[in-house]
Amino acid sequence: MASRARKFDDTWCVVEERFRQKSSLAAESIFTMANGYMGVRGFMEEGGDFPSEAGTYMSGVFDNYDKHYVDLVNVPNFLFTRISVGGEVVNLTSGRISCYRRVLDMRNATLRRQFRFVDSTGRATELAFERFLSMDDVHTAVQRLVVRPINHSSKIEIVAGIDGTVTNIRQFDNPLIRDIILDDHLDEVKKGAFGRNGGYLSVVTKHTAIEIAQAFSVEAGFGHSSRLIKRKRFVARRLAWEAERGGEYCLTKYVSVFSSRDRGVKSPVDRALKHLSVASGRGYEEVLRRHTSAWAGIWEDCDIVIKGSASDQQAVRFNIYHLVCGNSRDDDRASIGPRLLTHTRYKGCAFWDVEIFMLPFFIYTDPMAARSLLMYRYHLLGAARKRASEGHLDGAQYPWMSANDGSEQCQAWAYADCEIHITADIAYGVERYFLATGDEDFMVRYGAEMLVETARYWATRSHYSEEKRGYVIPVVKGPDEYCGVTSNNAFTNMMAANNLRAAAKAVEFVREKDAPGFRRLCRKIRLRDDEAATWRKIAGKMYVNRDSGGELIIQDDNFLDTTPWDVKGLMSDGRPAADKLPYSMLHRIRIIKQADVILLMYLLNERFTREEKFAAWKFYLPLTVHDSSLSYNTHAIVALELGFHKLAYDFFRKTARLDLDIKIGNTDKGVHAASLGGLWQTVVNGFAGMRIRKGLLSFDPHLPKAWRSLVFHVRFRGRKLRVDVKRSGTNVVLVEGDGPVKVMVRGNKVTVKRGSGAAIR
Ligand code: BGC
Repeated sequence: MASRARKFDDTWCVVEERFRQKSSLAAESIFTMANGYMGVRGFMEEGGDFPSEAGTYMSGVFDNYDKHYVDLVNVPNFLFTRISVGGEVVNLTSGRISCYRRVLDMRNATLRRQFRFVDSTGRATELAFERFLSMDDVHTAVQRLVVRPINHSSKIEIVAGIDGTVTNIRQFDNPLIRDIILDDHLDEVKKGAFGRNGGYLSVVTKHTAIEIAQAFSVEAGFGHSSRLIKRKRFVARRLAWEAERGGEYCLTKYVSVFSSRDRGVKSPVDRALKHLSVASGRGYEEVLRRHTSAWAGIWEDCDIVIKGSASDQQAVRFNIYHLVCGNSRDDDRASIGPRLLTHTRYKGCAFWDVEIFMLPFFIYTDPMAARSLLMYRYHLLGAARKRASEGHLDGAQYPWMSANDGSEQCQAWAYADCEIHITADIAYGVERYFLATGDEDFMVRYGAEMLVETARYWATRSHYSEEKRGYVIPVVKGPDEYCGVTSNNAFTNMMAANNLRAAAKAVEFVREKDAPGFRRLCRKIRLRDDEAATWRKIAGKMYVNRDSGGELIIQDDNFLDTTPWDVKGLMSDGRPAADKLPYSMLHRIRIIKQADVILLMYLLNERFTREEKFAAWKFYLPLTVHDSSLSYNTHAIVALELGFHKLAYDFFRKTARLDLDIKIGNTDKGVHAASLGGLWQTVVNGFAGMRIRKGLLSFDPHLPKAWRSLVFHVRFRGRKLRVDVKRSGTNVVLVEGDGPVKVMVRGNKVTVKRGSGAAIR
């Protein structure tokens, strides 16, 4: 898409200079506005005859489409607009369009669009649209429309309102089912007028009974008539006026959104109406000022500044922008779906994508947001316990796909019952969060309990095999989902062992740190004295399949029995293997969907020797088809560690511009959240080489040839550090929190203070 930073030389913007119907759905994903609480795809609010999914989503608002399974609800479209000039409909397919431009300003999180429209009689009208979802007050959205008749004076009519007749397009977990089923999740509660130029609509989800109220009011500083239009699940105002040639007519629509899920909200309608008066009373300039200043604060913490490549700079900001937009940081009852608030693909459920790919970004830039994501899992520990006990296992087993109540939301057995590494991945997230933040309160009150319950699960899900002389975990699916169902997936076994060790450590920590807290924990989950020793024993003897030389970790017990395949040939047309071969075959041939052993080597970095890493790289890379957006970023990081710098940069580019350049082919179904988080890790853990080593934050940077410098901030144990990587050396400075503090740069211990430090080469 026309978004190349080089061309526009603006690393804060994504610019589209031509509207392409072919990629209109992908563009809708890319141009999504969201503030964590709600999100709106970048659809054209005035409609048009081209592919569009006018999606509006609210974090945590799910509804059942059958007895057990839920979907992220497409809630009423509060941007609904229809325009006519002199009786002719105005949209991108109803007339001659020129001077088209759409700009996502990521610094200020606003979307602006403009075009010149010429109708069948030659009347030319310029239109400019703007929208943003306030980050200062997440219940507020603002939409603006400026109309300029260029060569005519005509009657203009704008219908502006809320369309609750929207539906969901059913998303199937089985990728082979491509039926189109429309689900209607909403019933009307009530609707009505608000003031002279507004209205409201309240709807309720059919099964989960979440009420959603939206109220709007249009401000127009010129003479016009206004009529309320009410239809089933629809409310709008028809504004009309006689526009003069050369005039400029600006309409500003304020929207307030509340739901019965919101804490402390009894009547969403009352709250929305009251709130709307305040928001509209503030006025456009003030609402925008507050919104952009909230974003300025966010960027101060999480921006990454790259000098040398405007295109990389723009892409990195794009990835960060969407990560921030998709996370409801103050709501610990919701997590992040694989497409954030940009689409309902994967039904908006939380996967391991959150803990393994996205969480690090939040841990190091906004620890409270990271804590909230982990608390979401903590609140659903009860459901995870139930799941484990239904399988005759101890402890807690987290679902592969998780929505509002922690029940398994994946309908495909091989994933739901077998992709069990998710439980160890969540434990990994808890462990990493604690390591980086030192948040003892979290560990004592919540984290230790999660680690213990998940460890208990592994202690019963594994068993000792005399033949293998170790603990084995049969009937699993690893991260490489083309592997079928197998046994002893190295990733699963080693992450489980890590979970067991982390639980033993956590118990020790709580016992030493907080005696009453420890007693509470023991009572609550009946923790026995001997459990930690058992976990350590199992972890120490966890079976990992290796080749006869011992250096190569074998992905799983079936892997070497698969049929060798022409992987390059399979990849040559750029289409995913699953589009070309049936799954029954993918399971039998030697190809890998996404990083599996390679990901393990990054996550449990210190448990592997350099030789083991090289052996895995050499063996698995040629077999990997990267048919998941989760793959390139991991490969980039490991490539950097092994010294394959050029290859690493290639992988980085593939990750960075995956959605922006619509490279992956399914951006129409939302931007790829795990890839966004993986990109942050590629820059910070990859190019800056950040790790925690022996309790210290350590950096081992390698700048790509195209970059002159790289600057970012990280929060670590209550401090904020600025890391400045240049060719001449790396400088780490303390910008917030107590100092001095020790870090490692290229293996040397360095004391970091406030002010400017010395660059280490
Ligand atoms: C990947 C999974 C991922 C899921 C959601 C799948 O295609 O293989 O690893 O969790 O998408 O992003």
